[in-house]
Amino acid sequence: MKAGRYTVSLHVLGWFRLDGGAMFGSVPKNLWSKLMPVDEENCIRLATRSLLLEDNKRKILVDVGNGEKWNDKLRTIFAIENTPQERLGFSREEISDVLLTHLHFDHAGGISEFSPEGTLQRAYPNAKIHVQRANFDNARAPGLRERASYLPENVDILLGNETNFLDGDVEPFPEVRVKRVDGHTVGQQYIEVFGGPQPILFPTDLIPTSRHLPLPYNMGYDICANTLLEEKKQFLEYAIEHDAIVVFEHDPDVAAARIHVNQKGHYAVKEVVEF
Ligand SMILES: [Zn+2]
Repeated sequence: MKAGRYTVSLHVLGWFRLDGGAMFGSVPKNLWSKLMPVDEENCIRLATRSLLLEDNKRKILVDVGNGEKWNDKLRTIFAIENTPQERLGFSREEISDVLLTHLHFDHAGGISEFSPEGTLQRAYPNAKIHVQRANFDNARAPGLRERASYLPENVDILLGNETNFLDGDVEPFPEVRVKRVDGHTVGQQYIEVFGGPQPILFPTDLIPTSRHLPLPYNMGYDICANTLLEEKKQFLEYAIEHDAIVVFEHDPDVAAARIHVNQKGHYAVKEVVEF
């Protein structure tokens, strides 16, 4: 899809699963389990979907999935599967910039890898990395709630490397802006590509799947539910006002959609958008 100066494409870097109850917070299972298939361990299967923006100067990849640095036990718990690089249609070497929405492992795990000698190295060797400074600081010293999500091998690699630390709402590239939000985790940023006729929005874990569009459908992982609700409402009002295309990072089947308020008064998918 063309949007202003960019050709925009979506790439499922891989799949994993998380506990369905944790993914839907206070929503009872008899409601959320109607929206998504549940396995025998109460988990739901989720995508790690990245956005790729290409113009004649840059190839910008937004988020990099779970990566490969998993031991057998955790790989099984999370049912981690990664798409082979040769099926993705781009090489890691050609990526000029990686924009990380936040450093939770399912968004930033792919940023580093082990070399054949077992040392940690950058998985996108030619890319500058862009992340909110507040999120990096948070990830360096995570609280108890988030310690399992911020893994040092995905965070420390940013130190002393080509990293651009962003402060708040800025435009790191032409026709791309980021907005800092703090409800899911401190210093998350979502992305807007605004050069085309309608904006393309990538809300990341503010709205991880299309099933999380109704305001009360939020994740148990969110660090501050009240802040998240306010941020989500603002996001959705903006998306409707501008008839934006919203891309869902973790949705197993609805990659992108336009949004409306349905007859019951809930935010919902108006139409699915194909890329
Ligand atoms: Zn997250």
